[in-house]
Amino acid sequence: MVRIDPSSKLKGKFDEPRELKAILSSQRADFDRAPYPSWSVRKANIEKLRNAIFASEDAFIKVISEDFGHRAAEETMIAEFLVLKGGFSHALKHTPKWMKTRKASTALPYWPAKNRIVPQPLGVVGIISPWNYPLQLAIMPLIGALSAGNRAMLKPSEYTPKFSALLKSVIANNFSDEEIYVATGGVDVASAFSELPFDHLVFTGSTSVGRKVAQAAAKNLTPVTLELGGKSPVIVDQSAKLDLVIPRLVNAKLLNAGQTCVAPDYVLMPQNDINAFSAAVLKQAEKMYPTFAGNDDFTSIIADTHYARLQDLLEDAENKGAKIAVAGSDDKQQLAKERRVPLTVVTNTTPEMKIMQEEIFGPLLPIVASETLDESLQYVQAKERPLALYWFGEDSDKKDKVLKTSHSGGVCINEAAWHVVQDDLPFGGVGPSGMGAYHGEHGFESFSHLKGVFHQSRFSQGKALHPPYTDKTRKMMG
Ligand code: NAD
Repeated sequence: MVRIDPSSKLKGKFDEPRELKAILSSQRADFDRAPYPSWSVRKANIEKLRNAIFASEDAFIKVISEDFGHRAAEETMIAEFLVLKGGFSHALKHTPKWMKTRKASTALPYWPAKNRIVPQPLGVVGIISPWNYPLQLAIMPLIGALSAGNRAMLKPSEYTPKFSALLKSVIANNFSDEEIYVATGGVDVASAFSELPFDHLVFTGSTSVGRKVAQAAAKNLTPVTLELGGKSPVIVDQSAKLDLVIPRLVNAKLLNAGQTCVAPDYVLMPQNDINAFSAAVLKQAEKMYPTFAGNDDFTSIIADTHYARLQDLLEDAENKGAKIAVAGSDDKQQLAKERRVPLTVVTNTTPEMKIMQEEIFGPLLPIVASETLDESLQYVQAKERPLALYWFGEDSDKKDKVLKTSHSGGVCINEAAWHVVQDDLPFGGVGPSGMGAYHGEHGFESFSHLKGVFHQSRFSQGKALHPPYTDKTRKMMG
């Protein structure tokens, strides 16, 4: 277990905007001295990062739980460490292949010249990350940045201060400021961070803050990868096998108490099926969590503001005619004290309810009556394009229709959320749920410049394209 070193030379020292600029300059100057790290350098960095993070696993589990009030240790192991394990192994296995110069075809008039694509490190990548999976969402982009041969500066969320301090210490004890730097602090630091002229900026967080980050980056023409949020729908077809749907759906909804960017936000299904479905969902939640209060397996809501926001969504829905059903029979005061919210199913929903307008980011599950697939697809289409869409069913024609006609960052068929942890799939949103993607090779490419290189041949026929123009020139035009 690694302890935070209180005498760390960096502790609280460099997070002023002025110093952030200095750190960026020193990273870039150092990068310019070695602008193309070999595979062995990248490998050493990725391995050092992996070893440092995993050596502190217990400490990370502890501080993340403290920042949340309570976070189930197994959730941190699964959703942070297991995911990172995959990300590290995948990068270590495939980066040499990703780094290779790629062949590209050459059109006939330019033969026998050759075209090549050379992936080149960009320089310094900025990474702004949220609190909900604080380690994974800081380190997965960092793996991509290192695999592509870059330096990086990170800014984790102010909602997880103990985690951020530990991350800063672990990184500072293993890397120089010129290699990787972690800036801590509040929104003022985050805002100044987003204004730095990085060579690429990855932002993971809400759509509203993502807009501000994109504006700040645009002033420097810094390219951005925006990993944002949204309302990810679940469409349950009548062909679905409910005994499979329900445990998978409830698990994805209650992981991290619903504080997951790709958590199922709401369910679309025929009116006649809603009552039985709601009852089964509540029963499943009670099976997984015999109590919600005092249950080590169940995570707390991160902060009082978010707890109050969820209560407000429920109150608003109830005032506008929704029916609310809560799993379990825990004491309400105890739940509030622990900032724990049991799975709560909301039916009789209407579009005017806030719960049907805002990303929920908690264990509330509204159900919307929708009689046909077309109706469900139209409902989804009328909203902003979500980060994920989940379709449950066995009818392959309908499945194809969903895949071809709906827009979302990613999709799971007969599952929810697990597409995110597949190392070889691009992870990213579309429209208001984000732009760009990372994970695996997609991260490598996002954080590289794919440089197009034209190699002219000694035997070039290109002269025919120079004046004075001749019949040969006209012949080349086809
Ligand atoms: P947030 O947008 O409030 O904060 C994210 C980060 O932005 C934090 O580090 C914060 O310090 C920083 N920030 C805040 N104000 C800023 C500003 N003005 N300029 C620059 N940076 C600023 O998001 P959150 O509450 O931490 O996380 C929840 C949101 O993130 C949800 O919407 C969720 O869907 C989304 N999310 C998306 C993904 C994804 O991969 N697409 C993953 C996790 C969370």
